[in-house]
Amino acid sequence: MLSVEEAREKVLALVPVLDARDTPLLEALGLTLAEDANAAFDIPPWDNSGQDGYAVRADDIAGASAQRPAVLHVTGYLAAGQTPSQAVAPGEALRIMTGAPIPPGADTVVPFEETDELARKADGRAVDHIAILKALPKGGNVRLRGEDVRRGEAVLPRGVVLRPGELGVLASLGFASVKAVRRPVVAVLSTGDELQQPGQPLAPGRIYDSNSYSIAGLIEKYGGIPLPLGIARDNLDSLNGMLARGLEADMLITSAGVSKGDYDMVKDVLAEHGEIAFWSVRMRPAKPLAFGVLRGPGGRRVPHLGLPGNPVSAMVAFEELGRPALLKMMGRTKLDKPTVEAVLEDTIINHDGRRVYARAWVTRRGDTYYARTTGPQGSNILTSMARANGLAICPEDTPRMGPGERVKVRMLDWDEEGVY
Ligand code: AMP
Ligand code: MG
Repeated sequence: MLSVEEAREKVLALVPVLDARDTPLLEALGLTLAEDANAAFDIPPWDNSGQDGYAVRADDIAGASAQRPAVLHVTGYLAAGQTPSQAVAPGEALRIMTGAPIPPGADTVVPFEETDELARKADGRAVDHIAILKALPKGGNVRLRGEDVRRGEAVLPRGVVLRPGELGVLASLGFASVKAVRRPVVAVLSTGDELQQPGQPLAPGRIYDSNSYSIAGLIEKYGGIPLPLGIARDNLDSLNGMLARGLEADMLITSAGVSKGDYDMVKDVLAEHGEIAFWSVRMRPAKPLAFGVLRGPGGRRVPHLGLPGNPVSAMVAFEELGRPALLKMMGRTKLDKPTVEAVLEDTIINHDGRRVYARAWVTRRGDTYYARTTGPQGSNILTSMARANGLAICPEDTPRMGPGERVKVRMLDWDEEGVY
């Protein structure tokens, strides 16, 4: 039996990093930058005001105080977006807004609150002069050219994952689009004679197809584009027909038909179309799995992950093997989900030496994480997956973990109540 790590290595070895495309910034969230983003100019591009106030010469206001204000002649007004047309000479001040360029001659900005502007306006006096009520060091409230970014600097190196902050930085550098690794299109195919799409009353003996939805959701959650193909029946014609569409995607994910039952013919069909290996992976749930590469039109090689049919097995196998493959395709290099160490509050039983992933709910009280399993752990009990925010891991060689023991939990979500 393969260990989870061995299975993962085999999967990753056969999955390529996808090509990069010129991508509009608004579509680039979560993508990997494929070339260095260099600054063509300084940011800020010029010295500018960090406050609404008066641009002055520090020498003119040395020693100023409320008792002994420095009175300056106000020569004009400069808003953000304007450029100065006149210099500030000794004895002068220019009313200036945050973000406006510092006019020549000025070196310091005095905020309104440290002038008598409000008092003058309240008295109905003209603001043709202004009293500065406080001295400031030279350069006070001035944001210097290049203090954020220097021209020529590689601000964001290739390989960076574009989060909202990176998108903002790219926009501030003037990029409307960037070269980024494209999102994989992942075809999702459910297989089984018993399956029915939700939306119609259940026919006798049928169950609704849930895997298409949970797996498509995971693909989208982690940045891929799901391409749901629907349901293939357990016969060669149906499977072959559906497979053709899957071969247009960057990866195909099927569920069910990989175990040892009479109708599990996914494996025969897939073996015919490519090099597929069938594995027993030393994990619970999700022992039976298939993985390999299908031959698509024009010699395209399409990785195929054959998930088990049971709904929890399908999701857990996707988290452990499908997600790393998806992230690698997207150019990511950190492929692990975050793991926390928690205090187990109940019991996990491991009766056959596999790695057990127990659905759990993690909370934080003080500085400690606590993990409680979310109910019956059968691989068909999907509600206990829906109620979980993590998978508590009981190692292969540990037959039982009990209350108070430290357990590693692979976090599925961080932003649930009680965590972060
Ligand atoms: P199989 O791998 O085909 O033996 O399926 C294992 C179990 O998973 C059976 O109980 C199936 O009915 C169930 N199953 C398979 N595919 C799905 C699906 N797409 N949605 C919900 N349950 C499924
Ligand atoms: Mg089946």
